[in-house]
Amino acid sequence: MRTVVDLIKEQGGVPFVTDTTVLYKGKRFNAVDLLYTASANGFSEASMNAPFIVADGLTGNDSVVVEIDGDILKSTTVASAIANADSMVVISHCKGHPGSGFGGAVKNLGMGCLDKAGKTKVHEVGIPFIDYNKCSSCGICIDECAWGAFTKVDNMVTLDRNVCKGELSCIGCCPNKAIIPPADCSEKMQIRLGEAAAGPVKVLGGRIGYINWAYDITPFCDCCNFSSPAIAENAGILASNDPVAIDSATVDLINNKIRVGNTSLADLWSTDPKLHLFHAEKTGIGSTDYLLDENLSCKDQ
Ligand code: SF4
Ligand code: SF4
Repeated sequence: MRTVVDLIKEQGGVPFVTDTTVLYKGKRFNAVDLLYTASANGFSEASMNAPFIVADGLTGNDSVVVEIDGDILKSTTVASAIANADSMVVISHCKGHPGSGFGGAVKNLGMGCLDKAGKTKVHEVGIPFIDYNKCSSCGICIDECAWGAFTKVDNMVTLDRNVCKGELSCIGCCPNKAIIPPADCSEKMQIRLGEAAAGPVKVLGGRIGYINWAYDITPFCDCCNFSSPAIAENAGILASNDPVAIDSATVDLINNKIRVGNTSLADLWSTDPKLHLFHAEKTGIGSTDYLLDENLSCKDQ
């Protein structure tokens, strides 16, 4: 991060480092917690030579509406500090993801650059249901949900579908596996994710560069409060001005470096990790075709 900041300053830019708040409970839910989390993980002005700004404001609702032309999504809400920037470098740690199979540049655009309302539009296809054959009314899920979607009345726990955002962070908390996601929600979510990625690209007029950091490739995304052994050998650092091409290349590189005993990204989460890339491609922001130039060094750019 420091290297990128210093290079931008050398070119006369005034960089800041940014991220948005999240939909689930934890230490990134509002701007204050996210600032503490960024600092605790070393993302501070002292280390990066640039300030860290929460792009979607104190409560995650500070955004700009951007019209897009997806099959499903016709608009999205881009976090205002991103929408109002002159240009952007998207730096992504690449890894597996339970919903999209893979998290890289497109996911950072179609999720990471949006405010809470924009994230909800992508996730709302995931609203789960309770399997009452398994539910013991223990109430653990009530504490897990940041939105208060679960309530307990007369010793029965219910889920308010009008309150739920569908981000599915509650699934893992249930000791009886009674919280069930809808069928094909991964595929539906990936369509919206790919389409929403067009929002930040459009509002910034395409003035975006992408760096994919394919190191420490964990099966779960970085939203988790734990880490797991890497499923693949480190695949390197990629750079491009095409978010779809860089992710397409990164997925292929990772699949070629899967460690013995692990499976491909697609088999890992039973969803095609390129599905959201195909839908991003459909919006016109990039191409899943790519040409790798492994001899290019930073100095050639
Ligand atoms: S955590 Fe699971 S078992 Fe407990 S109340 Fe919620 S759905 Fe039911
Ligand atoms: S009930 Fe809905 S909003 Fe609450 S944690 Fe589960 S999926 Fe998220």
